[in-house]
Amino acid sequence: HGKQFADIHNGIRSTLKMLQFKIRNANVQVVENFDSTLPEINAMIGELNQVWTNLLDNALDAMEGQKNGKLVITTLRNKECVRVTISDNGPGIPEDVKSRIFDPFFTTKQIGKGTGLGLDVVMRIIKQHKGAVKVQSRPGQTDFIVEMPIGH
Ligand code: ADP
Ligand code: MG
Repeated sequence: HGKQFADIHNGIRSTLKMLQFKIRNANVQVVENFDSTLPEINAMIGELNQVWTNLLDNALDAMEGQKNGKLVITTLRNKECVRVTISDNGPGIPEDVKSRIFDPFFTTKQIGKGTGLGLDVVMRIIKQHKGAVKVQSRPGQTDFIVEMPIGH
């Protein structure tokens, strides 16, 4: 249903382009740590782009007002899966918050700034692709790790 061969790097790059105004405004350094041999995956391109948009947008929000913001996007192939890691050097996610971030309507942002639906959507789309999303966070670094099977 609507699956195509998706070039993950294209999707991430076009998402970064959409967010370029926010990236420039926040003076964030973007590092693309891309595996040039990454295979295309059988996926729904529009849905995947929503995943990158939501994760990158959250990373930029986390680094708002920070002088040395750095966003690192890493891709690699791991057996029959691709792994995309989106890392920011923002404040990190407090332990009591971490267990709730994927809940629909959970947000720590000001009214009007967050709907709390971004990560719920991310989780649903990645599950549709038989993948997984994990988060690792400590003060000064948060990593969102997306893994998806390549598919055939
Ligand atoms: P929203 O962005 O509308 O708040 P999300 O579902 O995208 O909703 O995210 C839920 C919450 O998860 C955010 O409000 C924030 O508290 C936390 N969060 C998500 N990504 C990060 C991140 N990279 N660093 C710190 N906190 C984050
Ligand atoms: Mg969000």
